[in-house]
Amino acid sequence: MTDPFLSTSYSPSFVEVDDNPKEVEYIEIKVKSALHHVRRPYGSNPFYYTLNLYRGCRHGCPYCFARYSHWFLGFQNSFDFQRKIQVKVNLIEVLERELSNPRRKKDWVSLGAVTDPYQPAEKKYQLARKAFHVFAKHSWPVVFSSKSDLVIRDLDILKEIADKAGCAVAMTMTTLDPALQKFLEPHAVSIERRLEALRKLKAAGIPCGIHLMPIIPFVTDTDEAIEAMVKTAVEIGVDYFVYNVLRLRGEVVRGYYFQALKTHQKDLFQKTIKLYSSRTYPPDEYIKNLFEKVKLYREKWGFQNRWREFFSDKQLSLF
Ligand code: SF4
Repeated sequence: MTDPFLSTSYSPSFVEVDDNPKEVEYIEIKVKSALHHVRRPYGSNPFYYTLNLYRGCRHGCPYCFARYSHWFLGFQNSFDFQRKIQVKVNLIEVLERELSNPRRKKDWVSLGAVTDPYQPAEKKYQLARKAFHVFAKHSWPVVFSSKSDLVIRDLDILKEIADKAGCAVAMTMTTLDPALQKFLEPHAVSIERRLEALRKLKAAGIPCGIHLMPIIPFVTDTDEAIEAMVKTAVEIGVDYFVYNVLRLRGEVVRGYYFQALKTHQKDLFQKTIKLYSSRTYPPDEYIKNLFEKVKLYREKWGFQNRWREFFSDKQLSLF
């Protein structure tokens, strides 16, 4: 099959947008390994390993970079990413074996770096909860973000990890506008439920933050939207606030997002294509101005970012 990742041409006709979600299919699979060693740790990321529980994500965000990996697995229908979810049913025993290996270097693990660990499949399979018990048993530190308040179910075990080894939990927030949320994160839990989850994490003494990721050009990059998010972070008292701009890597991701724009935000279609051209990111000038805007509002509202404190032994290049 042709690898769209390598292509630079864009043909919006090959995707349809999932406007009419049907039943989700869970496909149980077995894996040989659990932890994935990050090739270049400690750049902008504070972790050495990643651990993914599910492949595909029911939240169905139209810009999700993981659409590409699902395509690569052989799921060629553009809806499959949010409708056919692979579940790694033997993951916990493999993880237990890997963490029991005395030669394994202990370091931070990012849970669900590719897809959301608390997507709806987690209600049934509880892989995140079971994995946390393994991390707590071996005193390994964990960091992750989610668009679901299901995380509150696991406050007890997250607190144990936080006290024993280190734990940082973020809610990923793209917008505070419920109308926009329907476009940006069609099957994620409501904004208010995620903010409430942050309040509960904070009250439980678990380090928590907001991931303003991605900031979407022409959709969520306004002064008003960014200031409102920073203000919310200050009001809740989260410990960190990290952000990044929309990355559109490869034709699978670009195709789905551009088609979603064409369907839901027609006026933004042409200018977004122009901004990204055939690039993964917008031009440097756009990114520089955007990041300065975020910094300005963090300063205006006196936000104290403790992100680096949690990973004081790491040389982080961003945030
Ligand atoms: S919640 Fe995250 S992993 Fe899931 S679809 Fe949205 S961006 Fe992708």
